[in-house]
Amino acid sequence: MAEKSSYPVVVIGLGRFGTALALELTRRGTEVLAIDRRPKVVQALAGQITQLASADSTDLEALKQLGVPDFYRAVVAIGGDLEASILTTSLLVELEINDIWAKAVTVQHGQILRRIGAHHVVFPEHDMGERVAHLVSGRMLDFMQVDEGFALAKTHPPKEYVGMPLGSSNLRRKYGVTIVAVKSPDERFTYATADTELSYGDIIIVSGPTEDVERFAELP
Ligand code: ADP
Repeated sequence: MAEKSSYPVVVIGLGRFGTALALELTRRGTEVLAIDRRPKVVQALAGQITQLASADSTDLEALKQLGVPDFYRAVVAIGGDLEASILTTSLLVELEINDIWAKAVTVQHGQILRRIGAHHVVFPEHDMGERVAHLVSGRMLDFMQVDEGFALAKTHPPKEYVGMPLGSSNLRRKYGVTIVAVKSPDERFTYATADTELSYGDIIIVSGPTEDVERFAELP
């Protein structure tokens, strides 16, 4: 059987998100069939993506003609047109595509997509907004919510933990977080151990419950 990551992918909707996704999959060696109802958008990507088609994805016959039923994995990257997003997703369910990903713009949109059978729902605008809020308003250099209520953050070490081996810092008991990796200026990230001593100017990766990570990253 083919490697999970090498299954060809149908990307439907070539707005900013769908285009970036299709181009990145192509760059990573995944075969892509990209579909959009706007011929101009499709023409603009000619030569950059393995297979391109201009079609209306709410038309079952069109999907069949393009060979969509043979694909294991599909991504519905239509955001603005709710009706088209929902109809397209339901047709992919009807075609028994094994792994359907759909982009949602609102929580309600996401709930509908899940109810009709999307296997994964992503909220790119919402997630990016949340991430940027952490970067804009605090000291974090990067932030990622890896699961509901659990996060990873890239930040600088708080003053109170500089010059002390992590093993004797009581960090998990006091703040509920774990420092997983450390990077000194001009070096690469390495795993943090009990013997690691942080310095001013280091960058650390912290993991833990989201609120604990947020609280820890705000320490001076
Ligand atoms: P983004 O915010 O990522 O730019 P949009 O929702 O604005 O996403 O873009 C969605 C894309 O999906 C557009 O290029 C649009 O032409 C395409 N699209 C919308 N409805 C259909 C449909 N029924 N069939 C095929 N493509 C569609």
